[in-house]
Amino acid sequence: MSTPTREIALNTNVAALPGVGPSRAAAFARLGIRSVADLIRHVPARYEHELAEETIAAAGDALGPTHGATANLAVTGEIASVRVAGFGKRTRLEATIEDGTGTARLTWFNAPYLRNRIHPGLALRVRGKAQRHGDYMQFTNPKWSALDGPPGDADQTPPADRWRPVYPATESLTPAVIERAIEHVLDAALAQIEDHLSEAYREQVAMPRLADAYRMVHRPADESEPPVGRRRLAFDELLLLQLGVMLKRAHRRDTMTAIPLKHNDAIDRHIVDRFPWPLTAAQRQVVTEIASDLQQTVPMNRMLQGDVGSGKTAVALYGMLMAVASGHQACLMAPTEILAEQHFRSITGMLHGGRVRIELLTGSMPAAQRREIEAALEGGDVDIVVGTHALLTESIRFRSLALAVTDEQHRFGVEQRASLRGKAGEPTAMPHVLVMTATPIPRTLSLTVFGDLDLSTIKAMPPGRQPIVTRVVPAIEASNVYDYVRTRLDRGEQAYVVVPAIEESATGLKDVHSHAEALAQGAFRECAVATMHGRLDRAERDRVMTAFRDGATQVLVATTVIEVGVDVPNASVMVIEHADRFGLAQLHQLRGRVGRGERKSLCVLIADPVTEDGQARLDASESTTHGFIISEKDLEIPRPGELFGARQSGLAPFLVADLPRDLELLRMARRDAIAWIERDPRLAAPENALLRRRLLKAHGEALGLGDVG
Ligand code: ADP
Ligand code: MG
Repeated sequence: MSTPTREIALNTNVAALPGVGPSRAAAFARLGIRSVADLIRHVPARYEHELAEETIAAAGDALGPTHGATANLAVTGEIASVRVAGFGKRTRLEATIEDGTGTARLTWFNAPYLRNRIHPGLALRVRGKAQRHGDYMQFTNPKWSALDGPPGDADQTPPADRWRPVYPATESLTPAVIERAIEHVLDAALAQIEDHLSEAYREQVAMPRLADAYRMVHRPADESEPPVGRRRLAFDELLLLQLGVMLKRAHRRDTMTAIPLKHNDAIDRHIVDRFPWPLTAAQRQVVTEIASDLQQTVPMNRMLQGDVGSGKTAVALYGMLMAVASGHQACLMAPTEILAEQHFRSITGMLHGGRVRIELLTGSMPAAQRREIEAALEGGDVDIVVGTHALLTESIRFRSLALAVTDEQHRFGVEQRASLRGKAGEPTAMPHVLVMTATPIPRTLSLTVFGDLDLSTIKAMPPGRQPIVTRVVPAIEASNVYDYVRTRLDRGEQAYVVVPAIEESATGLKDVHSHAEALAQGAFRECAVATMHGRLDRAERDRVMTAFRDGATQVLVATTVIEVGVDVPNASVMVIEHADRFGLAQLHQLRGRVGRGERKSLCVLIADPVTEDGQARLDASESTTHGFIISEKDLEIPRPGELFGARQSGLAPFLVADLPRDLELLRMARRDAIAWIERDPRLAAPENALLRRRLLKAHGEALGLGDVG
């Protein structure tokens, strides 16, 4: 049945293997398996212990004489008799098996399909739990396999104990089919596997050879081998990714230069004097880290993490003012126009009366005005520009962009970074980059997908913050909630009401227009209610936000457009309708719109969760207001919509490595990758050639390593 194994190469297509026709090949492809190499990368999910075979007499001795005693046993013999017993659904198949040393009983329940397959004279091997019943041994629902020849042939040595691999499978591809295919190619494949890690290095990190690692996971000699093989394979995945990230970083350092900015006590004093309050110690600390990066010619690549309301904008502004003090430019990019407008307003507010020239640039701006600002940017007549990510488009040129700050943008990845190239003046010049986020990246991701970023974290809130109380309330009690909110409006407070839709639709979800209408005629009669959503044009949004900020509007009924950045300290109550439809991180962001002033703030989540996940998100939201806890939880609870940047990063998921379980291996891989790239920044040494090739194949594209090669 088999192709000669010497014809099997690592790149042989699985369709060329015996027993693999077009439909099986397609089923393999659905598991991502196309070649022999892919096949052996498909590692077992677990192992089944197959016991050494014994004669029936020896198995009986092993079981012992006590009635009811049980043991896992395996025997080989011939079926002597078969009968069907019981009625209807309770039918069972009873058989006896003999091997010359003794007899055992076999019983299968609910297995009518066995009736035609187990017949007298059949030679088979059975294994499973055996139990002592008086003087006979009884196997119930044992596993069995028919033997080709008669049992007991002189040359048929009984197999020893073995750990049989059980492969992750699909409906159309059983573990046994996968097992057979792997068994067929394994020896040939192992003989061809080259190791990209040197013996000396393997010894240092106590890892087996790559071929041995594959042998250990696919055909372990004993229980202790699979973890050893697995450890090597997991480590390889982590090491390749870390090397890729470090290679990228070294490349950036070698080939890109940034404008080094000036910093001294006078500049520091000058900058902090512009702020209406002193920086907190927590802000001070991250400012120090950022200022130190900005003085280098190596482009900064830093993420600024800090919970909602921790004061990231001031920190970013500090960096931008360092650029201005050195005679260069800075830009601040936000994911939405509303947020860009908000940033623009708060920055112009803080720098009011000074000489810093600030402009707002958005897509919805009249073309003539836009062109004017673009020309000013190119001519160096603007110091700081605030806008959306449209600032990254090619048509926009700067005289000398020293720092690019982006807010709430997890996907500020390879491409965005590349588009900043040259905006600092010369083609090899790269602005320093600061990425701000309130949704911290879980530790494991920050070490892998975002491993190229340095991290700064604002660890404490500005003084005078009131904790936000969060309550989950069923929809049937919504009217009580709104009555209560009314009492707070009457005391001069303001409120947000968040709903999932803009217009009425068949989904039955509350929408901005009808809900605002209903509230204005109901609980919020005689109150000033306004609406806000993404389809309003800029002038209208400005008008609405200004009225709300000035207190002319008491209630803002909005979609999630207010999710990030909106900052109105007097707004202390938020009601979120259909809260179970929102992701945990999103709820956290929304909730961050309140609790910005001195008043006790409240966030009411109205929801009748229909799924367990929905319930879990609400529970998590109610029980913690700490963004860092929320982001770790968010990875555990799947949610509708987008997850963090991990999926968008384009990086291949790990096949073997499993985080956080393999965190120790990850640390080791990271440590060694850093040292490795320090020794050989381009991985150009001949002994690293294979490693380099595998690395570029695995991650070259996702990491944008094209120009490294
Ligand atoms: P983030 O972007 O981190 O969510 P912001 O930068 O919007 O937070 O700041 C939140 C609020 O805290 C703003 O109203 C800001 O004026 C205020 N704030 C920032 N830093 C300080 C500080 N050092 N002392 C007092 N208030 C501050
Ligand atoms: Mg912010």
